[in-house]
Amino acid sequence: VSNTDRVKQEHPWFVEGAAALGRTLAAMGLADTPLPIGEFSACPCCLMAYGPDAVDAGVFTAEHVPPQALGGQKLVLTCQDCNHSAGTALDAHAERREAMFDLLTGRAPGRPVRAEFAIDDTTTVLRGNIHRAGDGFVMVGVPRANDPKVVEEAVRALERKAANGAGGRFGFRLTEKMLPVRAQLSWVRAAYLAAFAALGWRYAFLRYLEPLRAQLADPTAELLPPLAMVDLAARRDRRQMLLVREPHELRSLAVVLGPHTVYLPGLEDPQTFEDLSAALARLSAQAPPRPQLVGKQIPWPAEPRHALDQ
Ligand SMILES: [Zn+2]
Repeated sequence: VSNTDRVKQEHPWFVEGAAALGRTLAAMGLADTPLPIGEFSACPCCLMAYGPDAVDAGVFTAEHVPPQALGGQKLVLTCQDCNHSAGTALDAHAERREAMFDLLTGRAPGRPVRAEFAIDDTTTVLRGNIHRAGDGFVMVGVPRANDPKVVEEAVRALERKAANGAGGRFGFRLTEKMLPVRAQLSWVRAAYLAAFAALGWRYAFLRYLEPLRAQLADPTAELLPPLAMVDLAARRDRRQMLLVREPHELRSLAVVLGPHTVYLPGLEDPQTFEDLSAALARLSAQAPPRPQLVGKQIPWPAEPRHALDQ
């Protein structure tokens, strides 16, 4: 995509975002801004203001929600700094976790995953990667990742196995550098950006969402409690947004991104992230069947809609 094509798509998003922000700031009595209201927009993650020149310069650009590697589409304008720091600190962990889920559940062919192998009861541990093939796994040693002596021992062990016929055991341990808390935060961030695209600045400015932006400003800290549920059987292209009314203790904005459902503060009588997380923990500890979520569906946005700012 050429720079001109990019700007052609992003500029109308900027103009509408700036107008929506202007209306909302005026309605909040915050129209006394250094730049004329309506002429600047902001990054929903860091709230830094940007003019139209930032779109042309490629520092305020359309971001994929969820990340492109996780099947997302361009949905909101964010600043380059926020997009980049989330990519390395959060989204990379989410991608690795999905690859591990693919491998372990067989829900998708997936990519090879880094692993260490043990053959029978030998203490030899061979480094390589592992992928699915039909009902089984294929383990591939990577010679340059191993001590040559280890490779020799592994080859001898495999030759013994071949001579003795089938049987014996292979063990593996996944060694992708993946932190679950960062992977989860990548989905929470994507849910927030989708909610912002659907609802706009009035939602983003809820004070209950401030801890989320503090967390995004410091992605390696652990400031937010667990807010997501995973259903590995769910389709990866599932997208839903629901203002949950029942169960009352889980009143929230539920954002469904494939197998992940993230619970964000809702609009009526919102609750803090801590209270939401506690409610989730209580409900998931209950014996099935889990209570059905009841509430108002919000259409999934294909582009920024800022519905509450209209
Ligand atoms: Zn930003």
